[in-house]
This record gives sequence, structure tokens and C-alpha cells, in this order.
Amino acid sequence: MPALLEASGLTKHYDVETGGFFRRSKAALRAVDGVNLTIEPGETLGLVGESGCGKSTLGRLLIRLIPATAGRVMFDGMEITSLGPKALRAARRAMQIVFQDPFGALNPRMSVEETIMEPLLIHGSRRGAASRDAVTRMLDMVGLAESARHRFPHEFSGGQRQRIGIARALILRPKLVVCDEPVSALDVSVQAQIVNLLSDLQTELGLTYLFIAHDLGVVKHISTRVAVMYLGKVVEVADKRSLYARPLHPYTQALLASVPVTHPSQRRRGTIGQPRITGDIPTALAPPSGCRFHTRCPHVMPICRTDEPAMRQSGAGHQAACHLIAADPPM
Ligand code: SF4
Repeated sequence: MPALLEASGLTKHYDVETGGFFRRSKAALRAVDGVNLTIEPGETLGLVGESGCGKSTLGRLLIRLIPATAGRVMFDGMEITSLGPKALRAARRAMQIVFQDPFGALNPRMSVEETIMEPLLIHGSRRGAASRDAVTRMLDMVGLAESARHRFPHEFSGGQRQRIGIARALILRPKLVVCDEPVSALDVSVQAQIVNLLSDLQTELGLTYLFIAHDLGVVKHISTRVAVMYLGKVVEVADKRSLYARPLHPYTQALLASVPVTHPSQRRRGTIGQPRITGDIPTALAPPSGCRFHTRCPHVMPICRTDEPAMRQSGAGHQAACHLIAADPPM
């Protein structure tokens, strides 16, 4: 089956001014740098990395909420990177986003009904009985009472507001939903409820998700495959089972070692004895040469400082970019 979404060479650089008042100069902030990625129909691709690695920017690029500097995205057989405004608006029906901050993402002056119905109106539906019925169905699907429709966002808890955000994203029945850290701002007790809700809705509506998180623990439950991102690059991609059992990239190993385990039997092979990641992520204004992880990698070698490692296949569907990895022999 063809991929629902395929990104190749996707790049986003921002021009920023650096230096003091008298020595101002321009530099490129390399938020996303040549990413190749596929998302299969019906799967959840987890996208994980520390704050500042470019994962939210990549999520927005994939559905063209922001324009790319270079590269292209094929979505459902259509190249969306070069679509004009009218065609892009039509394509957007099938690509929606759930934002991280359920407090900031909702307009405080709009009722729940207006909030959830707005995408329908933007895409040409009338504010009539059919639209109100669609809102009723979405309220039911996300577990909110019918009486919620005439209330306002400030009257709800964080978890309930995220349910409103999910209802708004799904009312157009999209194919792909980018979930941009949808549980990061919520209490731990509420996070599992929202992840379970997204999982149930995926089954019910046949959705495909890109699920962005900064913690490999959060995406484990919901993901089919996982991509790990570091400083604007995807450094490892694998199906969930393979990635958690046999992480190949030292960065993935360090991320996994930092996920708390509650019982020794849950210790993951490949992370035992691995040092936890230390130090800050370098600036995307001047990424390290060679392998971008070399300034923090416990296994750094001279070649790592000069040569950028290519993505290598190591096992079915498992790829990572590291000089330590022996690639599968050619077939
Ligand atoms: Fe570490 Fe070198 Fe592998 Fe980069 S290429 S992750 S620096 S061993």
C-alpha cells in the first residue's frame, strides 16, 4: 500500500539576526534539515526528541501549516509543498492538528459549539441543523456532555479543553492528524485518558497520526513506529517493538535510559549501563560538524567530528544514522 505521506529532503531554515547592537549579522537557524520520512495509512508514527530539536516545526511542515525552505511532501498522492492557496485549503480538510496547549489553542470568546463548528464553516458548510448535529456527534465521541456546547473554554479543566481541541480537529473527518505534544501540558493522571481517547478515535474513524512527544515513554503505548529526532535531523526510525528492544543510535539509547522504569523486569535491552544524556542540545544556528550528536555522545570517534553518518538499514524497517552501525549486506 502506498504511503499516506512521504517527505523528502524537507528543510526549514529561519533567517535570524545575531550579535550585539554594533555587530549585527544574519545567520540561518536550521530548525529542520533534510528530513526523509514516510507515514503509512492507519499507523501512528511517534516523533520524539528533546525540546528544540525541531519536531514541532517538522509536524507543521508536513501538513504545510508553514512553508518549507526546501524539499517536498507528497500527501495522498498529491504534492502539497507547491499547492496554491485555494488547492491547499481544500487539501487541509484531510490534514488537521491537535495543539499542545489546550489553554492557548482555544479562543476564550467562542463557545464550545462555535469552536468545534468553525472548521466546517471555513470549509463551506452552513451554520444549520446539519452542522449542529455534527457538533453533537463530536461531543459524544470525545466524551463531553451535550450541555457543554454553550459553555466557554475557561469553564473546563485542561483535559476537557484538550477533548474540545480534538473534537475541533476531527469534525472534518481528516485522514492525517498531527498530535503536537497533546498531553505534555496535562496532569499525569489525565494524560493516559487522552492517549486512550486518541487511540479509540483512531480505530473508530480510521485515522493516521503523527504523535509528537519529548519522551519515549509517552509514545510507547500509542505508536506503531517511532522516529527519533536530534537537532533538525531524524537519527533513527523503527517499528515500536524493534526500537524499544534494540535501540541502535546512542541518542535513542540515552533517551530510553532516561524513561523511568518501575520494575527491574522492565529494563530494556540495549539501555542497561547506558549513560543518561547530559548537557544542553547545541544551537541550531551552528550545528556541530559531522554527526550532530558528537558533542554529547559517549561513543564519539574522530570520524564523527568530520563525516555526517548516513541512514543505514539494520534489520527490517529499522534505520539509524551512526558510524557505529553495521549496515545490512545488500540483497
Ligand atoms: Fe556517536 Fe559517532 Fe554515532 Fe554520532 S556517529 S552517534 S558521535 S558514535
